[in-house]
Amino acid sequence: MSLVMPEPYAGVLARRSEIVRALRAIVPGEGVIDDPDALRAYESDGLTAYRQPPMVAVLPETTDQVAAILRWCHAQGVRVVPRGAGTSLSGGALPLVDAVLVGMARFNRMLDIDYADRLAVVQPGVTNLAVTRAVEDRGFYYAPDPSSQIACTIGGNVAENSGGVHCLKYGLTTNNVLGVEIVLMDGEIIRLGGRQLDSAGLDLLGVVVGSEGLLGIVTEVTVRILPKPEGARALLIGFPSVESGGQCVADVIAAGIIPAGMEMMDRLAIHAAEAFVEVGYPLDVEALLIVELDGVTAECDHLTGEVAAIARANGATTLRLSADEAERVAFWAGRKAAFPAVGRVSPDYYCMDGTIPRRRLPEVLERMRELSEQYGLGLANVFHAGDGNLHPLILYDANVPGELDRAEAFGADILRLCVAVGGVLTGEHGVGVEKRDLMPEMFSETDLRQQQGLKCAFDPKSLLNPGKVFPMLHRCAELGRMHVHRGATPFPDLPRF
Ligand SMILES: Cc1cc2nc3c(=O)[nH]c(=O)nc-3n(C[C@H](O)[C@H](O)[C@H](O)COP(=O)(O)OP(=O)(O)OC[C@H]3O[C@@H](n4cnc5c(N)ncnc54)[C@H](O)[C@@H]3O)c2cc1C
Repeated sequence: MSLVMPEPYAGVLARRSEIVRALRAIVPGEGVIDDPDALRAYESDGLTAYRQPPMVAVLPETTDQVAAILRWCHAQGVRVVPRGAGTSLSGGALPLVDAVLVGMARFNRMLDIDYADRLAVVQPGVTNLAVTRAVEDRGFYYAPDPSSQIACTIGGNVAENSGGVHCLKYGLTTNNVLGVEIVLMDGEIIRLGGRQLDSAGLDLLGVVVGSEGLLGIVTEVTVRILPKPEGARALLIGFPSVESGGQCVADVIAAGIIPAGMEMMDRLAIHAAEAFVEVGYPLDVEALLIVELDGVTAECDHLTGEVAAIARANGATTLRLSADEAERVAFWAGRKAAFPAVGRVSPDYYCMDGTIPRRRLPEVLERMRELSEQYGLGLANVFHAGDGNLHPLILYDANVPGELDRAEAFGADILRLCVAVGGVLTGEHGVGVEKRDLMPEMFSETDLRQQQGLKCAFDPKSLLNPGKVFPMLHRCAELGRMHVHRGATPFPDLPRF
């Protein structure tokens, strides 16, 4: 593994048997996994380029068990990595060889559904899609819809502030979570937020959502549920250039229309998706836009007309309006299958996640084309066009020596480009280990010190998910006091990464 991770604590590794025994005393039965073969199941997450098994995995079932595990690890100086379904694409759930992996899969119950107040209280191991499934017969749904929704958990969604195609109109996870119960690294259990939209005091709930497992382990989540819109219709629009598609996106937003979803694919992605799902995507276009409008029928009809007019004004060469629900779902099928579809045309791909101001889309796409030539690697583009969230898929072959390194360098240049045009390093996949070392591209030393100060307030010993998000290890005690004189750092014996 080329990635530099915190140096394992030799003293902790030497005490493995004692640690396993202590965990078994807290979680009886089969909830503690120490068999090396069984631990392989946890050695990676969705960022499969990096792998290392944890020292031991534990699968608690109750908040008290989570609290007891964290209290014990805190007292003993043992590191902890929380894990949901392990679908993170930024390596957020990557284990550490000297850490206890706390898997939240057994927290899989819906605790309360309150239709009057439009909320559901769920355990963090419940999958995203299961929330919608539980409430749909009453006409409700949970809006944030990552493409991984069949597998990813609500706890992982909270940690990554996950998004999906419907987040343009309905907000990301942070806009749909009302409250959490969270266990801090010292074993204390606290509640943030509640069952209403706003709470008194500092917005610590806002801090926890998107904190990538660095501040505590979430053991309960209260989410908003929304009534399903009366109807939804989708437009499938082909353009002769990505630039004209990008301009259409900007014009739709400028007209004050907020579609339920507005997604774009480039030529390579369109062809791969059509070959995979055969839903009738036009193959003679350079860019395909799917725009979904929802609401009452009259509103849908009016808005689809407006969007169609804007598309024509931008030179759309094909334009289809879904005639019924089956066709609307078919329009989305290719987009939703775009990642696995690209997986059929290339042995490996590396999915990036950067966000840019929408108006910079044409020049960013052009620059990415140049980078693709420079690195000699193919590129397919699939993106949440409405929110400027790009998902370039870099095509490579891990069996060809050097291609993975080239793909990573290409990906880092794309993210630098996003920041350079006024965007950000991540739209929804998080920083994890993937973008950790790029954080200084976006944040000053002071910014990073302030953020890490917050981490230290929750976890002064830096035991929870270390090696993620922050580019350099500062012990909390030395944070803010580091002066480098002629290249000589203080505490030279401390491992830095
Ligand atoms: C095919 C595919 C498509 C995807 N599409 C999207 C998409 O459209 N939108 C999107 O936003 N993401 C997407 N993702 C990324 C991923 O699914 C999300 O980041 C998801 O929220 C991760 O959830 P998880 O349960 O798998 O968490 P994990 O991968 O297990 O963990 C992710 C992070 O959350 C932390 N964590 C997990 N549970 C807890 C908890 N209970 N308390 C505290 N911290 C916790 C972990 O430590 C880690 O840092 C996709 C991934 C794949 C593989």
